[in-house]
Amino acid sequence: MLRIDNIYANYGSFKALQGVSLEIRDGELVALLGSNGAGKTTTINTISGILHTVSGSITYEGEDITNATAADRVAKGIIQVPEGRRLFPFMTVEDNLLVGSHIPRARAARKETMEWCYSLFPRLYERRAQQAGSLSGGEQQMCAISRALMGKPKLLMLDEPSLGLAPVIVDTIFDILVDLHKTGMTILLVEQNVMAGLEIADRGYVIETGRNVMDGPAAELMNNEEMKRAYMGI
Ligand code: ATP
Repeated sequence: MLRIDNIYANYGSFKALQGVSLEIRDGELVALLGSNGAGKTTTINTISGILHTVSGSITYEGEDITNATAADRVAKGIIQVPEGRRLFPFMTVEDNLLVGSHIPRARAARKETMEWCYSLFPRLYERRAQQAGSLSGGEQQMCAISRALMGKPKLLMLDEPSLGLAPVIVDTIFDILVDLHKTGMTILLVEQNVMAGLEIADRGYVIETGRNVMDGPAAELMNNEEMKRAYMGI
């Protein structure tokens, strides 16, 4: 579905990505892993088109989208749940969800999609008339994921959905990702919590200082001695 090939990206003179490559097959759940500052957010921002690459290519469903705008990529089904949720805090939960369905492909089905989101996250239904900024961290993450789902993603990308959440809430969120994966949705999950990410992923990529360092099936990475030493404190 998606292939990024040897991409480079800069912030001013700082070289944040120096040749990252990865691919995601239709229906896969792929984890993009690495420590703080490794370049994970930068990588998914180049996939969603928020940040432009200096060189390298991005191919999606057989089409070169390296120079496509972020809006075009959303219309094609590449939808991101940003780090830190980025909700509209003074709008209600329901209005936040509606914002996610503004693209023509999603607009017609917004009522059914919203019902589906509420069935995934019943807590959001209870809170639908509340300002998004008044939700707990876990509820805000549910709202951010639902807003992305309202856009009918083909490739759903999540940037650190576990960040700052209590373990029990992380379990709830990850269970939903597993359920979405079972429906056939293709998912790219960025995680600093390497073990949690690998537990639900099919495959993983590890990057450090803007370069690929390792990749493989999740089960293999979980048992890799280098991975255990470097990322799992074992
Ligand atoms: P984290 O988990 O901390 O978000 P990450 O792997 O997602 O880490 P990035 O946010 O992609 O890392 O950052 C990669 C590098 O680029 C880091 O060294 C970071 O300090 C730098 N960086 C990120 N955003 C900017 C920016 N807007 N301007 C300058 N440097 C940046």
